[in-house]
Amino acid sequence: MKQKLVFATQNPNKIKEIQELVPPEIDLLSLKDINCMEDIDETGITLEENAKIKVDYIKNKYGYDCFADDSGLEVDALDGAPGVYSARYAGSEKNNEKNIEKVWGNLFDKKEKNAQFRTVIAANINGKEFLCEGKIRGSIIHEKRGTGGFGYDPIFIPEGHSKTFAELGKEVKNRISHRAKAFTIFLNNLNTVSKGENLKIK
Ligand code: IMP
Repeated sequence: MKQKLVFATQNPNKIKEIQELVPPEIDLLSLKDINCMEDIDETGITLEENAKIKVDYIKNKYGYDCFADDSGLEVDALDGAPGVYSARYAGSEKNNEKNIEKVWGNLFDKKEKNAQFRTVIAANINGKEFLCEGKIRGSIIHEKRGTGGFGYDPIFIPEGHSKTFAELGKEVKNRISHRAKAFTIFLNNLNTVSKGENLKIK
């Protein structure tokens, strides 16, 4: 029988994308597939905490092995803000334009524009709990450039590039992004724990 594994996300596109990357003996399930329709309270104050809250909730309530991701923009001069609050930085309506305006507002008197995107994946699989992290360094600009991507993409230029994430396009972004890096590590770990082997890294 196939091993069932829940990806704790409401986003069907994320499920589709990752289903193609997991080993064929794993049956990836969404929250909808397990009839989990409730909003899981993301009350953590770090990306790690929030990812783990989702995994623990599913494991405790539904009994499934599970993994969850959480990402955010961390601006150096703002002590890592908006971080875990990236989606709702300017309020609970999760307005992208307002979020960007707030980052600009808070950065206006700062010379230092360095920032990073960071993704954390928490997992509880075959009795093993682990965290994976991916990040990409870059800088914030004070204009919006490009039409691709989402969130803070139009104001973030990744290190070693001269275009924003929104200008670089999906193909380049998916190769170098925080999310891509975290998922590469996660898929390696998933292969290891699915074979019943121990992880070499924490
Ligand atoms: P999530 O955890 O993937 O839902 O990301 C939370 C929030 O972080 C998003 O709503 C965006 O505001 C921001 N964010 C995360 N990843 C990206 C990205 O790749 N580009 C732009 N914004 C991002």
